[in-house]
Amino acid sequence: MPLNVLLLGPQGAGKGTQAKRISAEYGIPHIASGEILRAEMDAGTELGKRVKETIERGDLVSDDVMIELIRNRLEQPDTDSGFVLDGFPRTTVQAEALDSMFADIGRNFSVAFALQIPDEVAFDRLRRRARADDTDEAIQRRLDNYHRETEPLIEYYRTRGNLVPIHGNRSENEVFAEIQRALEQVPTA
Ligand code: AMP
Repeated sequence: MPLNVLLLGPQGAGKGTQAKRISAEYGIPHIASGEILRAEMDAGTELGKRVKETIERGDLVSDDVMIELIRNRLEQPDTDSGFVLDGFPRTTVQAEALDSMFADIGRNFSVAFALQIPDEVAFDRLRRRARADDTDEAIQRRLDNYHRETEPLIEYYRTRGNLVPIHGNRSENEVFAEIQRALEQVPTA
């Protein structure tokens, strides 16, 4: 049975780090929406050029673009054994689109982890990360966008079952150990 994992949480919560570890441990592809966008920008594609400013400002790329990118990625055969989705969905529209994609391909998510950390910790971690889009202004905007657009999804997935909240303000190993304990409980794992 495939293991389909969603990771929710603000930037700086450790989604990317934990997603890579889940991917390695369970042998399922790591699908990171931000990395897909960065690859488009690095390759200088039309799409990459279109989204660059939005990303640098700290705003969200349009739902239409994101849904199309993720739909294409989830259709690749390497997702047959499952996947760990990191950075998508970030809005209710995206979550609803994901539901209908899952219905189309006869799938569902196994578990949604909500990695939670205080804003000050997220802010600090992002400042130290110093990626090109990590200016103070952009960091603040992305945290604001997270609270407004993405945080409501915790409730959205809670009502669908299998939401597991995780305290992200701990060491990488402690967080991963808790994720593993939760995954052992997942019937499909
Ligand atoms: P990330 O690597 O997940 O931090 O994403 C980097 C940037 O890409 C974000 O700040 C957004 O501008 C954009 N992005 C990534 N995923 C999404 C998404 N699901 N919806 C809208 N914008 C996204």
